[in-house]
Amino acid sequence: MTGLVLVLNCGSSSIKYQVVDPVAGEAVVSGLVEQIGEPGGPVPDHAAGLQRIHGDLVDSGVDLAAVRAVGHRVVHGGRRFHAPTLITDAVLAEIERLSDLAPLHNPPNVVGITVARADFPDVPHVAVFDTGFFHGLPEAAATYAIDAGVAAQYGIRRYGFHGTSHEYVSQQTAALLGREPAEVNTIVLHLGNGASASAVRGGVAVETSMGLTPLEGLVMGTRCGDLDPGVLMHLKRTAGMGVAELDELLNRRSGLRGLCGVNDFRELLEQVSTGRPEATLAYGVYVHRLRKYVGAYLAVLGRVDAIAFTAGVGENVAAVREDALSGLDGLGITVDPQRNRSGRGARIISPDGARTAVLVVPTNEELAIARAAWGFV
Ligand code: AMP
Repeated sequence: MTGLVLVLNCGSSSIKYQVVDPVAGEAVVSGLVEQIGEPGGPVPDHAAGLQRIHGDLVDSGVDLAAVRAVGHRVVHGGRRFHAPTLITDAVLAEIERLSDLAPLHNPPNVVGITVARADFPDVPHVAVFDTGFFHGLPEAAATYAIDAGVAAQYGIRRYGFHGTSHEYVSQQTAALLGREPAEVNTIVLHLGNGASASAVRGGVAVETSMGLTPLEGLVMGTRCGDLDPGVLMHLKRTAGMGVAELDELLNRRSGLRGLCGVNDFRELLEQVSTGRPEATLAYGVYVHRLRKYVGAYLAVLGRVDAIAFTAGVGENVAAVREDALSGLDGLGITVDPQRNRSGRGARIISPDGARTAVLVVPTNEELAIARAAWGFV
């Protein structure tokens, strides 16, 4: 073994970690510290959380001296960052400055980086940006049709998120088809608790469903996705809602949870199977939105070689894959029911010889981040 990479994903109240062998492409150990900073909880802050992770790693028997780099998932890179970046004091200050654009996400990332640099002072720390893969979106796709001066002043444009996953899955898709990424046009559907779609032409992202924030686009576990912006003004005027309340409504009390009370897809399916009308509607809204995006991205790409499903729902829920693409045989898109419902892991679920291959491709953001960080060792 040549060395290991510690991958950290710091959220506001949790830190996910993985120690990865980037050459073998395997996770050596992984875990999660939760409830950070919660009143009366066992982990008062991120420093304590990282200390705990350090202890867990020692207990796991991992050779910490073999950790040669730390890779950090950073949510918002703004216009400034796209490629994986070696973290210096100046880079960290810039990430902190971008908190304006991602007030929920970048601050915990900054705290995590600061603490981890103190904890692992002798190895390179590398930031991998969730927005990075979408940095080069065509201007026509990245631009909102609002007053150009206001947009420029406040950095209002479409940045996209989940980029590490979309990039990794689009590359894996090409590999599974035995082709070079540059030859393949792919629609990637990342359907987890957060969900996003992307259109990737020849390895380059040309469209994605998330925008300024991770709120736009598909229906998610607790986020609404696309919404008439007039709804905000209406709720402010008629219900007197303020910014904090709207933020909470659209980010935490919407999506599947807003429609039927649960955000976990397994529970949703359970409720659908018992015929609960709210759950049936929630499922219908979810799948309808997905189909709209597939249709839009077919038009954006013109020629689509592959449609790849990934993340918790995309990888595990055959019904969603089938329902999202049903009735599109005339466009060369077919899901083979047998292949869709059986088998595990990365696989093609369309019939042999179909014009558009449909695939299940497990995502692995940690491995992608580890490999990016390894590039600096
Ligand atoms: P992620 O954010 O990628 O971890 O995905 C989380 C979502 O995937 C949750 O809504 C889970 O309920 C859903 N999920 C994970 N595994 C399964 C499964 N085996 N069947 C149905 N849904 C699943």
